[in-house]
Amino acid sequence: MSKTSPPSAEAQLAFLLTLQRVFAEGDFTATYKFALLMALADLSIELGEDDGFGMRVSITQVAEQFIALYWRQSEPYGAGGDDTNQGVLIQNKGDQAAVLSALVDFRARTGTSSLAQARTMEGYPELVRVIATIVSAKPLQYLQNFGGTTQEFLYERDGRGFICLKPGIPYCLRRFHPLVQQLSRTHWIDHIKSNKRNRPILGDGDDLESFLFGTSRHSLEVIKRELKKMDGDGCFYCGKRMGDRMKDIDVDHYIPFSVYGRDLTHNFVLAHPRCNRSKSDTLAAKPHLEKWLERLARQDDNLKEIGFTAGILADSETISNVTRWAYQNAVAGGASA
Ligand SMILES: [Zn+2]
Repeated sequence: MSKTSPPSAEAQLAFLLTLQRVFAEGDFTATYKFALLMALADLSIELGEDDGFGMRVSITQVAEQFIALYWRQSEPYGAGGDDTNQGVLIQNKGDQAAVLSALVDFRARTGTSSLAQARTMEGYPELVRVIATIVSAKPLQYLQNFGGTTQEFLYERDGRGFICLKPGIPYCLRRFHPLVQQLSRTHWIDHIKSNKRNRPILGDGDDLESFLFGTSRHSLEVIKRELKKMDGDGCFYCGKRMGDRMKDIDVDHYIPFSVYGRDLTHNFVLAHPRCNRSKSDTLAAKPHLEKWLERLARQDDNLKEIGFTAGILADSETISNVTRWAYQNAVAGGASA
């Protein structure tokens, strides 16, 4: 078989079994390896194709994914207080994980809580360099060590700041993205809960998953207000009026959060709560897709501005790659899209 065709069923199964062994036999001192798996899966969607090729990714690109994943997590959790380090969840079995400390420090120095704004700041490239050094020395170095051996099943390092995902791996990470995401998140949450030092911070809170991986309430409020100005009063799905009461309007992830979990401004639309619920975790039907793509093209500049205000990334190329992947994957998986 040529390298250009997707991996065989056997190769895909081997990938899944090895992934399972990573979770079962790997050593997870910090939460970095979960972040690395999620970052590689997201990059495969954002930059990869459904073929059998490998993919070259810079450690800088991985570091930027880390910053996006850990950004919100570097805020205090729940009633942790407003003092900088207080209340930030501990993500390492020893001292606080260095990525968290670097982000907490950056936020304190710059006074920004918005990732979109942070990315335009003078000190940001240095932050990326610091995180890239940690990513290179820790999770990239150790993810493929498990069960007492090293098995380079995902990537090889070139020693010059890049990793090469092996042939067929971008395909598998795209195909099994929801599974990789779900496994990583579940283990990530368990890691934080099982750390005794987090108990006083966690308290009785029951929203840990949405804190770690969801959109902040503040950002959602900004998105809701600004999209209402931009899109008007009609529900994206049924087109009928939603009225003026903000609680009668839902902010919906067009590509469902369970399918792709990174927040992108272009992925939000406003809908009736009942229309949002009835769509649930499925992809919207084709006529909605056409309307949505047309809106993305027309409103690109406005959406970027809204993202900046809400502190959420806005990138039209990424969202179009994610969309193409989501609809293709739904067809491949036998779901009705
Ligand atoms: Zn509706």
